[in-house]
Amino acid sequence: MLRDELNNLVRRRSQKTVSEADNRELYGALLEYTKEKLKETPVIQGGRKLYYISAEFLIGKLLSNNLINLGIYDETAEFLKENGKDLAHIEEIEPEPSLGNGGLGRLAACFLDSIATLGLSGDGIGLNYHMGLFKQVFENRRQKEVPNPWIEQEGWLCDTGISFEVPFRDFTLTSVLYDIDVAGYENGKNKLHLFDVKGVDEGIIQDGISFDKKEIGKNLTLFLYPDDSDEAGNLLRIYQQYFMVSNGAQLILRECEEKGCDLRKLHEHVAVQINDTHPSMVIPELIRLLVQKNIDFNEAVEIVEKTCAYTNHTILAEALEKWPVHYLEQVAPQIVPIIKELDVRAKARFHSPDVAIIDAQNRVHMAHMDIHYGYSVNGVAALHTEILKNSELKAFYEIYPQKFNNKTNGITFRRWLLYCNPELTQWIGRYAEGFRKDAAKLEQLLCYIDNEAVLDELLEVKHKKKEELSAYLEETQGLKLNPDSIFDIQVKRLHEYKRQQMNALYAIYKYLEIKSGKKPKTPVTMIFGAKAAPAYHIAKDIIHLILCIQKLVENDPEVSPYLNVVMVENYNVTMAEHLIPACDISEQISLASKEASGTGNMKFMLNGAVTLGTEDGANVEIHELVGDDNIYIFGESSDKVIGHYKNYDYRAADYYINDAQIRELINFIISPQMMKLGEPYHLLRIHAELIQKDWFMTLLDLKDYIRVKDQACVDYEDRRAWSRKMLVNIAKAGYFSSDRTIAEYNKDIWKLK
Ligand SMILES: *Cc1c(COP(=O)(O)O)cnc(C)c1O
Repeated sequence: MLRDELNNLVRRRSQKTVSEADNRELYGALLEYTKEKLKETPVIQGGRKLYYISAEFLIGKLLSNNLINLGIYDETAEFLKENGKDLAHIEEIEPEPSLGNGGLGRLAACFLDSIATLGLSGDGIGLNYHMGLFKQVFENRRQKEVPNPWIEQEGWLCDTGISFEVPFRDFTLTSVLYDIDVAGYENGKNKLHLFDVKGVDEGIIQDGISFDKKEIGKNLTLFLYPDDSDEAGNLLRIYQQYFMVSNGAQLILRECEEKGCDLRKLHEHVAVQINDTHPSMVIPELIRLLVQKNIDFNEAVEIVEKTCAYTNHTILAEALEKWPVHYLEQVAPQIVPIIKELDVRAKARFHSPDVAIIDAQNRVHMAHMDIHYGYSVNGVAALHTEILKNSELKAFYEIYPQKFNNKTNGITFRRWLLYCNPELTQWIGRYAEGFRKDAAKLEQLLCYIDNEAVLDELLEVKHKKKEELSAYLEETQGLKLNPDSIFDIQVKRLHEYKRQQMNALYAIYKYLEIKSGKKPKTPVTMIFGAKAAPAYHIAKDIIHLILCIQKLVENDPEVSPYLNVVMVENYNVTMAEHLIPACDISEQISLASKEASGTGNMKFMLNGAVTLGTEDGANVEIHELVGDDNIYIFGESSDKVIGHYKNYDYRAADYYINDAQIRELINFIISPQMMKLGEPYHLLRIHAELIQKDWFMTLLDLKDYIRVKDQACVDYEDRRAWSRKMLVNIAKAGYFSSDRTIAEYNKDIWKLK
């Protein structure tokens, strides 16, 4: 069947046989074929329907993911192989849609996969950014941003013909709705709805990623806002957010009316999950639209309160959105009286300024609106939810304890195991049953903890993935890696709280150690990958620092056989899929209390890497699951760190002055050899930052980090013991399947069926 259909399709499209066609022609045929199969897949039906609204959906390439979920991946790959073709090479043709910055957007994508896999009725709502997040290139050891166009003539987007009018203060924009089918794993399908502006104009992009910020009708969906957690305070962002939620709300009400539902009972038919505060304006917008449909204001508020639920993703103060009322008035004045009324009602009930929606400086606290007027507030890991309840949102927890709940994040095992690591999947399949549908079954692997032959196979799989990664990086980025070295990997957005700078200081430490004659038994390869927000200068300085260390080591024949430092360009989902299966040591070294959950940590664990991390986010839960022997934990506890912030008693300069080793490592940043390789201005700036400010307390944990990381490298030498750690990590990773996370959302919050 599949063979005949594909043969015919390739012949019709390119007048060639499969073996004659080139990869681009085959990609086109596979795309068309898969889209047809998706079209035939039934839409999941259910009682209540979920709408997951998110400014980001970092979906990654879709061809293989869809083939796997449709259950035709193996047959397709085999058929291509018989014709001398390699599916892995064919899918390199597919552009990666970069509709997200990092973890938050990737989470939304994993959730859509799991919602459909569990057979729950739930669609995503977001924006169709034409350029997505910028593409990162390195020039003179510095990050440069260039546009990343990903939309092609033929792709996964389907024009639905649906459009809405979105009123702004000075004009009205017409939207166009594109849908992407989201197939569950051997189940029906849901949709990802991506709204676009009719008149968007790629021609207004100037050099790099700059463009005219004022021409809203032409620029609204051009770019994804490239800041992960720094507030840029830009009107364009509010335009994007309102455009997204107004379209979303109109779609929700329209679908509800089409089903013949009574809008007064909206909450019985619909759940809206607000992913961070970017979609918070959906609350006043839904109220506005319900009132327009002749529902009384009080009743509209009650309906919306029973419909909307909010997920908090961060406690970084600078990332909690607070929009000045006059900004909102400039963009969408029609929702301002509604927000003001919601604020008046909240203030009438609760007098504390800590829980006000509009503060004394006339700024709207988006999260506060979500908590007062939504029925659920969740954090994304156990520790994070506790911090919300006990400090960040304590005042809210006291008035609404029943609204607060935890939903520890998860990842889809289809992409992060079955797809990215077929060798490991096959190995697991020999020793565990049923894990594809029920991730908890991975625990069966524990029976083999003392089976030398099984453990040897596991080491072989890891080595093969390290060889594959080495070949891939050599081919795509000209990097040379030694697959017999320890692969120590830190890949994630660049942010001071994630502390790539601490890892860079370890690289300096190791460099100096080797120079002094202390050579590691097994060479170490330190791999970094990270994009920095374009306006986040310190983050860009850290990239520059890492790239300078990379060059320093590479130039030094005394050191380079034992240490390799590389930063991969343009870290994205595709790169993650290559890196993660090849990792030995997973770096999860955020300052305790700052990483809400992390999901990279889970992907690495699932692929048999051992975590080196702080007691932060979901690392805490990983630690509990695998036990002390199968993870490397270091650093101050979140309680202590929160105490330091409260008491203002952390001074980086004290560490610098009092500790000769710390001083040596920091000063190396501005040593003559580094200044020759890099730009003095930037190296001096990061050097000063670390001594004078160091807001995320690098120096607090640096010594403990070095000690524990060295221990991990020593332990790596005992390959048998290390392979046991790998096995335990894989066996215990089942908890972090997003299928488990989504089942919990459904049971506690959505109650879809
Ligand atoms: C999983 C993922 C992230 C999130 O990583 P963290 O380590 O949790 O910050 C970011 N970017 C990409 C491309 C990912 O796949």
